[in-house]
Amino acid sequence: MNKVDLLGRRKFITGLGVAAGAAMVAPAMAISEKADGIKWDKEVEIVIIGSGFAGLAAAIEAKKLGAKDVQIFEKMSYFGGNSAINGGLFAAPVTPMQKKEGIEDSVERMVADQLASGRGIADEALLRHVASHAMEALQMTLDAGSEYHPYLQQLGGHSVARTYQTTVSCGAGITQPLLKKCRELGVKTHNRAKFEGFLVGNKGEVLGIKMRENYHFGEDQPGKVINIRALRGVIMATGGFAQNVNLRMAQDPTLDAEVGCTNAPGATGEGMFEMFRLGAIPVHLAHIQSRLTV
Ligand SMILES: Cc1cc2nc3c(=O)[nH]c(=O)nc-3n(C[C@H](O)[C@H](O)[C@H](O)COP(=O)(O)OP(=O)(O)OC[C@H]3O[C@@H](n4cnc5c(N)ncnc54)[C@H](O)[C@@H]3O)c2cc1C
Repeated sequence: MNKVDLLGRRKFITGLGVAAGAAMVAPAMAISEKADGIKWDKEVEIVIIGSGFAGLAAAIEAKKLGAKDVQIFEKMSYFGGNSAINGGLFAAPVTPMQKKEGIEDSVERMVADQLASGRGIADEALLRHVASHAMEALQMTLDAGSEYHPYLQQLGGHSVARTYQTTVSCGAGITQPLLKKCRELGVKTHNRAKFEGFLVGNKGEVLGIKMRENYHFGEDQPGKVINIRALRGVIMATGGFAQNVNLRMAQDPTLDAEVGCTNAPGATGEGMFEMFRLGAIPVHLAHIQSRLTV
């Protein structure tokens, strides 16, 4: 990331148009600041925040592309986030199993299916990016040792069978092998390490991060905040925000504390908030998947 001016907190909240929810949202927000005169406690070549699919895959790719010092920082006591607790269902077009079963599929067909089931409002370029790289991502998990059932499933919204599922029927069947692969490649993995904000240079570029060590989720914080200089970049992979009731209510007031949530407890959105403050624009934030359970 390298972006624009650091917005004032109040200006940012007003800009988002959530002024009414701001007082409630504010306590969950971390704060970025200028790095002028700051003392760096540590230097890391590539800093990755979050240890779900996105963070783990980014670390493996960075290593493959020749980075020497790649480090993942995860705030929880365990690794994997929502990715570890998900259903382990992996949709991809033009896979070996489809070929074996004689199923005709294509990137364009998967994009068309998703546009139709998303009622035409999904971001087509993002869908095409996902569909074009899905097989590559699936291969990354296979190379890391993920095991899948020997059959495909045709889930709602898909016009053909294109979904693999891990033999353990949850995402840990992917995150655990990816985490092991990261460590084999020499990626350093830190837990109880919470991103608290960016440290930004005079041109608005991200120079590093503030990171709380020994973080204990949901408790008083004994840990110390250190300043980490990111020599080549910071990759944000902090996932979603559905466990932050105030933040999700700012998007959809019906999703109050009475509404249950399947997300991992750490899905509280503070990393996302800091990215917005640097100028990142979210897509479809208010489209929070909900369903009735009886
Ligand atoms: C119950 C459930 C079932 C699902 N089933 C499927 C499925 O079968 N197939 C499918 O394709 N999708 C499924 N999904 C969606 C899918 O799991 C997510 O899209 C995916 O896991 C997101 O990956 P991620 O790496 O972006 O985020 P995550 O996996 O959530 O990882 C983000 C990580 O960042 C950490 N983090 C957050 N803030 C900070 C911070 N400040 N400092 C340090 N670390 C931080 C979090 O603790 C977390 O570990 C499901 C989701 C849920 C909740």
